[in-house]
Amino acid sequence: MTDTPPYKRVLLKLSGEALMGKGQFGLDPETVNQIALDIKEVVELGIEVCIVVGGGNIFRGLSGAAAGMERSTADYMGMLATVMNSLAMQNALEQVGVPTRVQTAIPMETVAEPYIRRRAERHLAKGRVVIFGAGTGNPYFTTDTAAALRASEMGCEVLLKGTKVDGVYTADPVKDSEATRYDTLSYRKVFTDDIGVMDHSAIALTRENNIPIIVFSIYETGSFAKAVSGNGCFTIIQ
Ligand code: UDP
Repeated sequence: MTDTPPYKRVLLKLSGEALMGKGQFGLDPETVNQIALDIKEVVELGIEVCIVVGGGNIFRGLSGAAAGMERSTADYMGMLATVMNSLAMQNALEQVGVPTRVQTAIPMETVAEPYIRRRAERHLAKGRVVIFGAGTGNPYFTTDTAAALRASEMGCEVLLKGTKVDGVYTADPVKDSEATRYDTLSYRKVFTDDIGVMDHSAIALTRENNIPIIVFSIYETGSFAKAVSGNGCFTIIQ
């Protein structure tokens, strides 16, 4: 690793599933604590860290809609699930001594601060990690798009997507032993081959704002710090 941090400011997108560990639903405290330690490692490199957390481990709007719920209501429930995950992540980070603020796109001031970009800037300048909850605040969007949006607004130099696998593969590596990992991918290829790494609106936003996306495994201890330093296994989309 180099002495000068490779990036000044990064955004980490954690899917709800990443917080589930080996479970089938909800939060696995051990996994959440390990991720907090990995984030601490990056903070200690002198890098400002923004985080967007998903909610799929608790509730997904599309599943609610498939079960007959009105889509917007189901999506609001999904956004509330991301706030629960954000609070869990904040708790784990503060337990390992990383000062953190949660800001939500849906105001709920007794629980967290509302999203105010300039205030988030102040927190980052003071060395705090900022977790953006409640996605974009709008139904019909995903937290991947929220991550691309906040990364753009906050001027993050890279969006890191922490997943269960160490990058983007030519096929599902669990089902296909011939599958190989891409080292790099272009935004265009992700679009034209319809590679399901992030939804199209997230890819479009990052492309427009020239923000590369690094897909890496959050389950490998230390992989976040490695990925921001250009080491370890990952796929970079640029
Ligand atoms: N969601 C939404 N608008 C947003 C972000 C999220 O309506 O801007 C809802 C949507 O229902 C989604 C749920 O929140 O299914 C959880 O987010 P997501 O599926 O992106 O979480 P992840 O897959 O990353 O765990």
